Amino acid sequence: MRMNPVYSVVIPCYNEEEVITESYRRLTDALLLLNESYELIFINDGSKDKTSAMLDELADEDTHVRVIHFARNAGHQIAVSAGLDYAAGDAVVIIDADLQDPPELIPQMAAMWKNGVQVVYGKRRSRSGESFLKLKTADLYYKVMQNLTNDAFPRDTGDFRLVDRQVADVIRDMPEHARYLRGMFAWAGFRQEALLYDRDKRFAGETHYPLKKMLKLAADGIMSFSDKPLKLPLWLGLGWLGLSGITLLVSLLAQLLGKTVGLWWLAGLNGLIGGSILLSLGIMGGYIARIYEEAKGRPLYIVGRTKGFPDDALRTKG
Ligand code: UDP
Ligand code: MG
Repeated sequence: MRMNPVYSVVIPCYNEEEVITESYRRLTDALLLLNESYELIFINDGSKDKTSAMLDELADEDTHVRVIHFARNAGHQIAVSAGLDYAAGDAVVIIDADLQDPPELIPQMAAMWKNGVQVVYGKRRSRSGESFLKLKTADLYYKVMQNLTNDAFPRDTGDFRLVDRQVADVIRDMPEHARYLRGMFAWAGFRQEALLYDRDKRFAGETHYPLKKMLKLAADGIMSFSDKPLKLPLWLGLGWLGLSGITLLVSLLAQLLGKTVGLWWLAGLNGLIGGSILLSLGIMGGYIARIYEEAKGRPLYIVGRTKGFPDDALRTKG
């Protein structure tokens, strides 16, 4: 038997005692269909229910199962990142534990991968069992996101995907702490294709993404991939300065022409101060954006493949 499996499946779990058994069963069925080696990597993200014991039991019974127990809850994106770190497969599948992403799609993803697609991402055609509010906010979020990031990401796409080893390695080389994985995958490039699917409702239990976590994820997404918000004061400042300049000029002219000016010149002067402060903030924003860019420590470029070098194969692996 070879050491590295063909497929690694990464499954983040936080208090999922109600779904784990079913999840394991459906994942196993889907992977057995592929007739190749695989491993199931469950990340227990600091669960407080029976998740931990249940996962250990699965690992005892089935050698395909591996479990990473976090010492405390670190969050979904971090749990998936840990899974990517431990995954040894040629292809890595990321899937939620709650069966909202159907494991039965994995063979289709695998087929696309065998045809050379390096990132097969699940794109939601529909979402059942989600509240009206969630659907509307998600929609609004995607619109804002597209705008702020100049369409850098596909819409209606979560973390459910299959990625090639080469892509998984690129993500592992991105040390940023605020992790918005779907964005990072899109940023990486390579041959990416969508697989349309209908998102199911949760098999059991409740969402572990309360509004607070959701907002954090949304903020991470925007702030890690767009510096437009930082530039806002720059434009505000310039606009304000312009307005104040005109006000001052007009009151000066009026004064010279002997008209009553009132205190307009004061408003203009005042605006100059406010505008200068905003402009300074905007300029600082520019520097902060650069500091942030450096701090993220992302690779400068990502090599898809090389040709003509003596060690092409090696280099392609990065
Ligand atoms: N999850 C996790 N850590 C957390 C929250 C969630 O590992 O702090 C896992 C959870 O067990 C599930 C996946 O991330 O497998 C998606 O979470 P959930 O289904 O609660 O989110 P939703 O689908 O409602 O957005
Ligand atoms: Mg879910």
